[in-house]
Amino acid sequence: MRYQSTRGTAPELDFRDVTLAGLASDGGLYVPVEWPTMGADQIADLAGLSYVETAVRVMQPFVGDSLGETELRDLCTAAYGRFGHDAVTPLVQLDHRHFLLELFHGPTLAFKDVALQLLGLFFERFIAGTDRHLTIVGATSGDTGSAAIDAVAGREGIDIFMLHPRGRVSDVQRRQMTTVLSPNVHNIAIEGSFDDAQAMVKAMFNDASFAGRFQVTAVNSINWARLMAQVVYYFYAAVRLGAPHRTVAFSVPTGNFGDVFAGYVAARMGLPVERLIVATNVNDILHRALSAGDYSTGTVTPTAAPSMDIQVSSNFERLLFDLAGRDGAALAEQMRGFEASRAMRLTNAQQQGAGKLFASDRIDAGEMAQAMAWAASRAGQILDPHTAIGLAAARRADVAAQVPVVTLATAHPAKFGDAVERATGFRPPLPPRVGDLFDREERYDVLPATFDAITGYVAERGTPKP
Ligand SMILES: *Cc1c(COP(=O)(O)O)cnc(C)c1O
Repeated sequence: MRYQSTRGTAPELDFRDVTLAGLASDGGLYVPVEWPTMGADQIADLAGLSYVETAVRVMQPFVGDSLGETELRDLCTAAYGRFGHDAVTPLVQLDHRHFLLELFHGPTLAFKDVALQLLGLFFERFIAGTDRHLTIVGATSGDTGSAAIDAVAGREGIDIFMLHPRGRVSDVQRRQMTTVLSPNVHNIAIEGSFDDAQAMVKAMFNDASFAGRFQVTAVNSINWARLMAQVVYYFYAAVRLGAPHRTVAFSVPTGNFGDVFAGYVAARMGLPVERLIVATNVNDILHRALSAGDYSTGTVTPTAAPSMDIQVSSNFERLLFDLAGRDGAALAEQMRGFEASRAMRLTNAQQQGAGKLFASDRIDAGEMAQAMAWAASRAGQILDPHTAIGLAAARRADVAAQVPVVTLATAHPAKFGDAVERATGFRPPLPPRVGDLFDREERYDVLPATFDAITGYVAERGTPKP
């Protein structure tokens, strides 16, 4: 399989190089040159398969020659063997038509583990036997940092430098990062905000002298391999609910549009998806874009669902590209306009194309709390704030009565204990496998939010290019 950039000028790459590159050199995002398809017979054949076997069948066409089938199976077995549930992503029924797809049984209790556990293994496999050494640099407001650190801790040929804003992530989130003591993990608490941390990381990628010395790599959801790994659970869930003989709708708590874009890919591959419901909180740029064609940034309002507190959704570019005839030059022009004015209109083709599959909704704090209370009292399920936003949108969506609606449960409720306790009066305990988190030793360094301080730190501890 070959991959092309959404902005038309970066070279085409294979799966291996796309995984190692992250962002395309023309500023665009990589997508496969064509969508592989699975016929109804092939989808029917997934019935009863394990998560790992489903993953191999769904991902093999995207991986192409970069990994053999046995190698891919071995990596999936290793990645998903670390999950706390045999089904990896179990389905839970709430009422006659609503289901939860629990994606939080990985090591750090958020759905990001599903993709990052595999990405860590892809990195290690693709640099094995070369003289390459990867330097992962990232900024996190919580979930991505811990999932990425867990995925690469102790792996050969990789260093990870993760910046978080000092005192501005929850205790659980900080400890999930800082109690990982492997020598290749470098936690930095910066004296500044998340935006400062992100600006530092961007500056490192754009600094020719720094990027020339280190093989820097990103682990945020612009990396295609992450989205590919997320396509799998749409197939896994839909087949359990009767696909290909029955259509299924999904409601997805959305921030950077990575998770729900994976659902779009599943639909393009032939999975009968009735609707993809994009659930946003009050930071509703995606709801405005999908319902009214208005993609314009505002200011970010902090909410109880911080992973959805976004100003722009980087993966939305992949959808706009696919819906606009895959014209890289036109999309590059549209994105340049957006980057200059922080606002754009979707074209008619983009809006109509999106309307065929996507619906969207904006859920405020009261509606989120109501959904948590409903799930607790009616189905005995404790939801985290992100999942509750997804469920609120699912219950309000206009979907034919016979179609099952699956809400993606993106985080374990114990990760957001305060918000859950406020809404339900119940404080969810941490699952036993992370129960000693508060007794473990922490290690991190505090640095000022200056470019020189951070790059100096990385230069001292990292491994430069040969
Ligand atoms: C990252 C995250 C999201 C948003 O997912 P995107 O792929 O960025 O749309 C939703 N919920 C939780 C708990 C997350 O960690």
